[in-house]
Amino acid sequence: MIELKHISKWYQVGGKPTFILKDINLTIKEGEFVSIMGPSGSGKSTLLHILGMLDDANEGEYHFMDQPVHSLKEKQRSQIYKQHVGFVFQAYHLIDELTVYENIETPLIYQNIKTNERKAMVADMIDRFNIVGKKDLFPTQLSGGQQQLVGIARALIAKPKLLLADEPTGNLNSKQGEEIMDLFKQLNKEGVTIIQVTHSEKNAGYGSHIINLLDGRIEKTN
Ligand code: ADP
Ligand code: ADP
Repeated sequence: MIELKHISKWYQVGGKPTFILKDINLTIKEGEFVSIMGPSGSGKSTLLHILGMLDDANEGEYHFMDQPVHSLKEKQRSQIYKQHVGFVFQAYHLIDELTVYENIETPLIYQNIKTNERKAMVADMIDRFNIVGKKDLFPTQLSGGQQQLVGIARALIAKPKLLLADEPTGNLNSKQGEEIMDLFKQLNKEGVTIIQVTHSEKNAGYGSHIINLLDGRIEKTN
């Protein structure tokens, strides 16, 4: 599903390049549940953003479902993203002015899906996530765990093949965190490929593979 070849990312700092990622080579197969671990500043979020096409590498090749992402134009990349990728953020990134229902619906509007179909899809998702009673509330009226559920529902609404999550339980208590990880495990069983950034050994234990980053390089995988 995913192949990275010699991916490097750097920023110019004081006229010389500072490497964030250096020569990353990586293969992720469909159906895997991968955890990216490593100390703060080791490049985990940057790698996840590149995988999610939210950021660009400076060098190297990125193949996603047989498409050469590295040589595609911005518009084509965002098309692939919208069709195949869902992204979950540590701090939820919900739109405070929109209700739960409207937040979950947003990706479908970007995909030009018709109103009736949108209604049915959002209703199904709200059912599945057991948040029927919350659908007309605004994000600030929800607990952290509930907000993250909405964030995940929004990431899943367009039925992506790949779910990316940056510290999805980082702002949650351990019970809420476990619920989110159980949900990820279930989604993975249903065929969604998952890549998460996590500091937690316990969360990583839910997955099938671990990638350890250190100073922008893959230190080891298992
Ligand atoms: P961000 O995801 O915003 O880049 P970090 O990855 O630096 O932030 O950290 C996310 C959270 O994890 C923070 O609350 C931070 O205190 C905590 N954290 C950072 N490094 C570690 C670590 N090595 N072990 C445990 N917790 C960490
Ligand atoms: P992690 O997620 O492992 O904490 P990040 O991928 O967030 O690591 O960041 C890796 C390093 O890249 C950090 O040292 C960070 O300061 C640096 N970095 C991130 N974005 C920029 C930027 N726009 N300009 C310069 N340095 C950056």
